[in-house]
Amino acid sequence: MRKKIMLGNWKMNHTITTAREFVETLDDTIKLADRKNIVIGVCPTYLCLNTVRRRTPFSFVVGAQDVHYLESGAFTGSISIPMLKEVGIDWCLVGHSERRMYQGETNELCNKKIHALVNNEMTCVYCVGETLEQYEQGITKDVVKNQVVEGLKDVQAERLKYLVIAYEPVWSIGTGKNASKEIAEDVCKFIRDTLCELYNSEVAESISILYGGSVKPNNIHEYMTMADIDGALVGGASLKTDSFKELIENF
Ligand code: PEP
Repeated sequence: MRKKIMLGNWKMNHTITTAREFVETLDDTIKLADRKNIVIGVCPTYLCLNTVRRRTPFSFVVGAQDVHYLESGAFTGSISIPMLKEVGIDWCLVGHSERRMYQGETNELCNKKIHALVNNEMTCVYCVGETLEQYEQGITKDVVKNQVVEGLKDVQAERLKYLVIAYEPVWSIGTGKNASKEIAEDVCKFIRDTLCELYNSEVAESISILYGGSVKPNNIHEYMTMADIDGALVGGASLKTDSFKELIENF
């Protein structure tokens, strides 16, 4: 059975102080997620990873928002996998659209990061999705297929137990314009079909695919009723403890 997942992406929000305040109120939410069999967690900034990891049970996922694909070296400002592992972090986002947009991340770079993560037994949440312009041109599936094929180039099937894919249409991220559940399902199913072509149906059926883009407590449930959507990657609505809890209540 595929994992159901609700992962918050804090982006460049929360200081160590406010992150600590957030996790101090999490007990009930974590218990509720356990009862509902939902893998729950957040991706804080690097500075807050240690604080959040040390104050939450192991079942609560704490992920990084990015990582370098090499272990060490002259890469000012970067963080490596051994550094994350040392503070108990074993999940990481790759290819978030904000990194593709502002840091110029390519599918080729994402592919290097994915290899590094899954080979080190870290769960990689690989983000894919089309821009508004691409959506309007009707080339969503071409774009997403390219991202999946190039991102997963030469990744062995047995490593895919460490992979989660998040479909996040760029036009829906932080805009309040969430994709309809039908659009989200259509693309998530297409991603699963692509995984089936690249690997096989057993692998494709085992990978959790999340939808992300203006998911809120009042719309999360509609996505969860769709066959190929296994969870949500949530930005804005994951920042406050109340709405974070409501996301799990309404999942
Ligand atoms: C995100 O940051 O991945 C995201 C989906 O943001 P939001 O929920 O705010 O649209």
